[in-house]
Amino acid sequence: MTAKKDIRALTKTELRDFFISKGHKAFRGNQVYAWLWGKAVHHFEDMTNISKDTRQFLSDNFVINHIKVDNLQRAKDGTIKNAIKLHDGLVVESVLIPTESRTTACVSSQVGCSLNCHFCATARLKRMRNLNPDEIYDQVVIINQQSQLYHQRKLSNIVFMGMGEPLLNYKNVLEAIDKITSDEGLAMSPKRITLSTVGLPKMIKKLADADVKFNLAVSLHSAIDEVRSKMMPINEVSPIADLLAALQYWYAKTKSRITFEYVVWKDINDRQADINALVNLCKQVPVKVNLIEYNAIDDGLFQQAAPQAIANYVKALENNHIVVNVRHSRGKDIDAACGQLANKMA
Ligand code: SAH
Repeated sequence: MTAKKDIRALTKTELRDFFISKGHKAFRGNQVYAWLWGKAVHHFEDMTNISKDTRQFLSDNFVINHIKVDNLQRAKDGTIKNAIKLHDGLVVESVLIPTESRTTACVSSQVGCSLNCHFCATARLKRMRNLNPDEIYDQVVIINQQSQLYHQRKLSNIVFMGMGEPLLNYKNVLEAIDKITSDEGLAMSPKRITLSTVGLPKMIKKLADADVKFNLAVSLHSAIDEVRSKMMPINEVSPIADLLAALQYWYAKTKSRITFEYVVWKDINDRQADINALVNLCKQVPVKVNLIEYNAIDDGLFQQAAPQAIANYVKALENNHIVVNVRHSRGKDIDAACGQLANKMA
């Protein structure tokens, strides 16, 4: 017997066609689709306006794969880290990050990662597989539920800053965002979604051509090729000039300002030359800069720069009228902060 297919791999049209091919009315497909996405049910029995026979017929033909919270940890600052078990037993992590005014879901796009950024814990895991659209969507559903349960408000923002490189799982990530933003899904505004990438020029151009409406963030960390290549091997393949050209293309098409994510490390990128290079790059395309705190992973190879170095960055950027924020990490006591996602318990 062949394994039953995951029903959520079907588009709405395919679902309708399936019903028609079995002699049912097409609108059943719409109803089932609404249960699968809008209500995100896990069992055919929960589809209460569908007849018992039809539910049986569905479960004879399909499964509803769904993710499961395997372990939930709550940090002192309200951050929640979820170890999420996928249908095949692999684990990813999703984080709920509360601030005064918003709740942000930090979601994973791949199991592990292939990019090998030297400062990132996820790089240790290697890439095992891409997440399916429904596995990405479900992380958002779960965090939205947790936001209502623990923080009495709905999820407001989503960042693709969990495990993996979203642009190396392009199709599934876009499909998931489509569902998240559609009225039949979670009806969230794309303006509240940020996709964070290591910076793959070809893929950034492809995104720009796709006329997407969400925000783009790039993990820059250095505007000098030699320095960036040392931290992020991808830079040897896609140097900063290529990245900049792609970002200019993105801005020309979307008119949406890019965010640079940037960690300042001691003795790596804390010199005046590093600051000058960043300022110079920022003058060439509309960006804002988030200076993010370094979250030590346990190898002790990198250290956060001195506060003075960060203050120097802020001053230089502000003097050049570039918007800059200093971001402090959340959830550090449970290893839920950026770059710390490596499922310790797995
Ligand atoms: N692959 C994507 C998304 C995952 S990483 C990307 O590279 O953007 C999410 C963010 O966390 C990136 O900006 C990454 O550079 C940053 N990050 C990784 N390890 C970190 C660490 N140890 N401390 C602080 N930020 C880290």
